[in-house]
Amino acid sequence: MKIAIASGKGGTGKTTFTTLFAYANRPALYVDTDVEEPNGHFFLKPEITEEKDFSELVPEIKDDKCTFCGICADECPYKALVIIKPTKKWLFFPELCHSCGICSYVCPEKGALVEVPRKKGIIRKGKAGDVRFLGGLLNLGEPTAVPLISAVKREIKDDEKVIIDAPPGTSCPVVEVLRDVDYVLLVSEPTPFGIHDLSLTVELVRDLGKPFSIVENKYKEGNTSLEEYAKKENIEIIYRIPFEEEIAKGYSKGELPFARFEQGMKELYQKIERRLK
Ligand code: SF4
Ligand code: SF4
Repeated sequence: MKIAIASGKGGTGKTTFTTLFAYANRPALYVDTDVEEPNGHFFLKPEITEEKDFSELVPEIKDDKCTFCGICADECPYKALVIIKPTKKWLFFPELCHSCGICSYVCPEKGALVEVPRKKGIIRKGKAGDVRFLGGLLNLGEPTAVPLISAVKREIKDDEKVIIDAPPGTSCPVVEVLRDVDYVLLVSEPTPFGIHDLSLTVELVRDLGKPFSIVENKYKEGNTSLEEYAKKENIEIIYRIPFEEEIAKGYSKGELPFARFEQGMKELYQKIERRLK
């Protein structure tokens, strides 16, 4: 079973919840797909046992074969290539290149444009006790996280108990994570901003047709704003993490109250499992 934990925005407590949830349900695989800002390892503290480069193909032009016709630059949808015909020079902007391969496909001169691998990030694997760790880290300035997220996902074996920390927001990286999971937990805070961003994620998850529930973080008795939203939208708040100074203090030191939430999060996993069966 694959459960993804998502949120409409960063800073809602998504990683806090995900790491607690993975720990409580060990043996499990924790997957950090928030590759632009991964931080699950701060709390799980895995021993990294394997690290490999993630590369994609980018163009390289051979001056001796290129006629500087400019077709490759004209057809590049991301303007990552510039051909300066009068001086017979070319410029390549790797931070704009999406490795789509169009330039190499349209080049009419054999051997003028070759594709070479360029490192765009890394994939890491490790172990924190009975929690196996898998995650990606994208190089700064890369235009899209989606290919690395796809590569991380390919490392997941289907029969595992998989807990996925999704990137925040509602853009392509989140869709790439959520599109083939079994269940989604949406972590939100009971604040106007939190509820606004949650509502966008709810629309996305509904569009994807995934079963989902809300996890309320920083729950405070008397603040019913998130509850009212959930009631209006007919969504269950399936779990609550209270608003407590001690949890925040521990978070700032990379320490979470794993034991305290263990039983509740085990029951939560079983509840979702029963529901899906
Ligand atoms: S399309 Fe090929 S031949 Fe034309 S400028 Fe680009 S690399 Fe050179
Ligand atoms: S691979 Fe695609 S994005 Fe990159 S330079 Fe070629 S056409 Fe442009």
